[in-house]
Amino acid sequence: MSEGSIKRVVIAGGGTAGWMTAAALSKIMGPAGIKVTLIESEAIGTVGVGEATIPAIMKFNAQLGIDEHEFVRATQATYKLGIEFKNWGDLGESYFHPFGRIGFDLDGIDFHQFWSRLKQEGGEHGLGDYSLNTVAAYAGKFVRPEPDHGQVINQMGYAFHFDASLYAAFLRAFAEGEGTTRIEGRIEHVEQDAQSGLLTALKLDHDREIEGDLFIDCTGFRGLLIGQALGSQYVDWSHWLPCNRAVAVACEKQGDPVPYTRSTARDAGWQWRIPLQHRTGNGYVYCDKFLSAEDAEEALLGSLDGAPVSSPNHLRFQTGHRDQFWAGNCVAIGLSSGFLEPLESTSIHLIQMGIAKLIALFPDAIEAPIERAEYNRLMTDDFTHVRDFLILHYKATRRSGAPFWDYVRTMSIPDTLQQKMDLLRSRGRFFKYDAELFDLTSWLVVAEGQGWGPQGYSPAASRITSANLTQSLANMRDVYARTAKAMPEHQAYIDRFCKAAGDK
Ligand code: FAD
Repeated sequence: MSEGSIKRVVIAGGGTAGWMTAAALSKIMGPAGIKVTLIESEAIGTVGVGEATIPAIMKFNAQLGIDEHEFVRATQATYKLGIEFKNWGDLGESYFHPFGRIGFDLDGIDFHQFWSRLKQEGGEHGLGDYSLNTVAAYAGKFVRPEPDHGQVINQMGYAFHFDASLYAAFLRAFAEGEGTTRIEGRIEHVEQDAQSGLLTALKLDHDREIEGDLFIDCTGFRGLLIGQALGSQYVDWSHWLPCNRAVAVACEKQGDPVPYTRSTARDAGWQWRIPLQHRTGNGYVYCDKFLSAEDAEEALLGSLDGAPVSSPNHLRFQTGHRDQFWAGNCVAIGLSSGFLEPLESTSIHLIQMGIAKLIALFPDAIEAPIERAEYNRLMTDDFTHVRDFLILHYKATRRSGAPFWDYVRTMSIPDTLQQKMDLLRSRGRFFKYDAELFDLTSWLVVAEGQGWGPQGYSPAASRITSANLTQSLANMRDVYARTAKAMPEHQAYIDRFCKAAGDK
């Protein structure tokens, strides 16, 4: 073990988490003399189904200096403007959760307060008509906002759908180019200091041993280092988020890819549809107390847009997180650190948060109790905030009759979430806790879309006459409709900017 300073970082596992961590650490910490080694086992493989992201991924790619169009090309990516939720409020209903802003504030007062007022006065237009993302998504349009595009287009937010295994391969090439050493092999034993319990080395097959100062556990659900060796316990949240299984399958694409994810609520969970350039990803996330694996597979295969192009992949998970994300000299990133179902595409984001916080708190010494405690506090907050937003989708349903939906609709929820829902319900008020990920727009569209929207509005929204309010909001709708109409088709944008010469 080196004398108190961290020089050798060993990453166990090479899924999305492992390669994102290797890429970032070698690029950002490499120049400071940190040597990164990653061990992965092709025989064990990766989960490889993470395909939908949120806009924050742009920051990660930008920090690494990755060219966006090259990234879209390399990962068969499409652009994502938001998520369409079908059958969540009740059967037959749908709404769109867009990235980006909704409407323009008037006289310094939040737009949605005026929208709520107009609704109460009989206005018939939904929030989606005031969101460029929503209007463009349903029209199949996309353009990347550029600084000279003006304030309407610059209200847009976007992310990507991509092939997770291609993303890992892309990042592997990047990380190796930045100096990461990759070792193919199976980790068979974790060596620990007899007195302190700190990790000292990983023993691989063929009698190989890799020593390190700081270890990153990216071994997926196994949690080989953080759980099996260091005993960090798992905090179970499955009483609030009971889905614990998924079956995933890719199918042929039908027509041009749409620029959004679709989430359709089903009898015992929900189904995703993620359009990529070359195929469509699908999966049914469900709770095995209410549905068997065979029935889930049959339901999924019976509702695909095209013929399957892969075998159904069955996965098990438990919602929750490690009580210590960072224990001893080991930091868990990715599925080894915890899991929240992909309803709002947050897993890759939580990986990114783990990496950013590790870099911000990068320890000087192998024992770093202060940095470790802060990291654990921050990551627990990140997981908790996302958890509450996910629970909202289940709690704010009016579906009844199916045992799964009856359970989630009537379950007790965390006090923090109840407080937020009550504030939102009364007069559309919402306040972020600390560095919470999802903002007012997200909470509002989900609550409103599922019939839990504001019942009143802020008195401050009374200051405009009804006639002026009606006219202002009509103007906004018109601006969004015209702007979306003038945008290129999503596929045309990809063809123009993200294809190499000779690509079909
Ligand atoms: P894994 O992919 O499991 O990688 C583990 C790595 O550890 C592998 O390289 C493996 O070989 C290695 N390993 C394990 N044991 C050993 C050993 N003994 N020796 C050597 N190597 C070992 N995220 C999103 O952001 N958006 C989504 O839409 C999304 N959808 C998802 C849907 C489902 C059903 C699931 C389960 C997850 C989804 N995720 C999504 C999450 C996303 O897939 C993961 O967060 C992401 O893939 C990271 O996985 P990982 O790298 O932590 O683990």
